[in-house]
Amino acid sequence: MDTSRPADRRKLKEYEKLRHRMVEEQLISRGIRDPLVLRAFRIVPREFFVPSFLKNSAYKDAPLPIGRGQTISQPYIVARMMEMLELSGAERVLEVGTGSGYQTALLSHCCDVLYSIDRIEAFVKKARKALDSIGLFKPFLYTGDGSLGYPSKAPYDRIIVSAAAPLLPRPLIDQLAEGGVLVMPVGDEWGQKLVRAVRKEGEIIVEKNEGCLFVPLIGEGGWKEP
Ligand code: SAM
Repeated sequence: MDTSRPADRRKLKEYEKLRHRMVEEQLISRGIRDPLVLRAFRIVPREFFVPSFLKNSAYKDAPLPIGRGQTISQPYIVARMMEMLELSGAERVLEVGTGSGYQTALLSHCCDVLYSIDRIEAFVKKARKALDSIGLFKPFLYTGDGSLGYPSKAPYDRIIVSAAAPLLPRPLIDQLAEGGVLVMPVGDEWGQKLVRAVRKEGEIIVEKNEGCLFVPLIGEGGWKEP
């Protein structure tokens, strides 16, 4: 977009309105209360992270395709998972499943240091461009098998995985700092539960939450490549 053009400026204003409506109608009305999360959703322009032919659907209450059989998740589910992380803004975070980079952008407003990894290099490159275009240079992006975590920067205060695994991947648990929290979908291809695991005094406390449906985490700690 060229913000010196009145038509583009008008379009940005329209998206801004839709974004604020999304926060009210899709997030607050469903119980999302974390001020840090709500602030991030009010700031980050989702239209920069969806394919250009879907820009007008950017604020729909739904996941949208981003290519290669993958999706940018429904805003509510992203907000719910981020709220479960209980971020204060000071954490070192690992995100597995960069995808479009939308959740990366949201997270970068809610933590101190952010590492994000996706197995598909094209997504990482595209996400980097989208993040740069809105001035978010902070997140470190990598290509690789995030089901193994990213050991060289571990431990992490928070880990969030936006693809589903049959079990909590052991490497991710091992890379959690004391007091750290891991949030991810766990189950089979037909449906999963949002699981929150906390490392407390050496023990891992696991809590299962509501049902969800995510694309599979493909890798050593997830599912085999189809
Ligand atoms: N959070 C993303 C967003 O905001 O657009 C959506 C993520 S999409 C639902 C799931 C992503 O997980 C895909 O981009 C896919 O390539 C990635 N993925 C699947 N298995 C992975 C693995 N082992 N390591 C890293 N990324 C993986």
